[in-house]
Amino acid sequence: MRTRRRRVAACAVLAAALVAGLTSCGQEARGGSRYQPDKGKGGTVGIAMPTKSSERWIADGKNMAKQFRKAGYKADLQYGDDKVENQVAQIENMITKGHRLLVVAAIDGSALTHVLTRAAEAHIPVISYDRLILGTENVDYYASFDNERVGELQGQYILDRLDLTKPDPDADERHTIELFAGSPDDNNTKYFWNGAMKKLKPYFATGQLVVRSKQTKMNQATTLRWDGGTAQKRMDDLLSKNYGSTDVDAVLSPYDGISIGIISALKSAGYGTKRHPLPVVTGQDAELASVKSIVAGEQTQTVFKDTRKLAKQAVQMGDAVLTGKKPEVNNTTDYDNGKKVVPAYLLKPVSVDKKNTQLLVDEGYFTKEQLR
Ligand code: BGC
Repeated sequence: MRTRRRRVAACAVLAAALVAGLTSCGQEARGGSRYQPDKGKGGTVGIAMPTKSSERWIADGKNMAKQFRKAGYKADLQYGDDKVENQVAQIENMITKGHRLLVVAAIDGSALTHVLTRAAEAHIPVISYDRLILGTENVDYYASFDNERVGELQGQYILDRLDLTKPDPDADERHTIELFAGSPDDNNTKYFWNGAMKKLKPYFATGQLVVRSKQTKMNQATTLRWDGGTAQKRMDDLLSKNYGSTDVDAVLSPYDGISIGIISALKSAGYGTKRHPLPVVTGQDAELASVKSIVAGEQTQTVFKDTRKLAKQAVQMGDAVLTGKKPEVNNTTDYDNGKKVVPAYLLKPVSVDKKNTQLLVDEGYFTKEQLR
């Protein structure tokens, strides 16, 4: 049954490949490249995004679709609703339809090996968008932000706010902190975590930062699918078990949706008043709800990653691949997916707190009215 299904699937791929201009089964594209031989504009680009539950992915998808259309292609934009099987089916469908390029922000970075083998058989190039696709040779380029830097910005922000980096910090002063990490199946999670730990760990060693829960390992701190509700529950638990008479002074949060969950738990536990202020809470993505929370003095910081610029970079890469040019990359060493080092273009993230939210207005990311 399985073999038969595979055979049927293979025929579908072959049919799609024939439509796309290949002449025979298994034939390599011109010049030994696995790309389609008909170089030039036109055709459809498949854009597979993870979820609509976070603003950033809605914006990423829309921006890419718009820019690909402007560059002379059709765009097929799909969202996987954070379900791996949906995303795999969507990509399969894109291959069957003979799309010329795939741009994928993976839900689970390790779950696409099989479907991307099919993409390779159909000579369809693949760009890994924001999140690195793991365990396959069939990914050509990676467009993202400097992910370790994101974690460094969060960690450094906590140190600065707790005055730990001033020339002569009071060595006897102890601050409490709890740590959250992103989804365990997202390759970015470990980069964010490692960046933050690079900054925070030395202070665990001196005892100036104390994790009362003792949950200092990444696998104790991860949040499946970056879910705010899951983070809220964990924070409820951390507070009730470890912070009876003591306050928590800082919470490392890797993403705005998680920060919102953490802040809800803190408020339920009585934080957020003049006498009992909220701790330092970091974040990522500069999502509107979190930027408003920063303006209102609740969330403390976020990391701004201009998704318009990332979309532009991915579109430029895709256009270059499809028109036979070499895409621009600025990192050819750091993003090893287990099968190859994927050539990458990394953009710079920027730390935002109450003092510089105006930057988001100046950059046209939000209007002044939106931030009120
Ligand atoms: C992205 C972050 C985002 C997170 C949750 C990560 O892969 O790099 O920008 O906050 O996913 O959506």
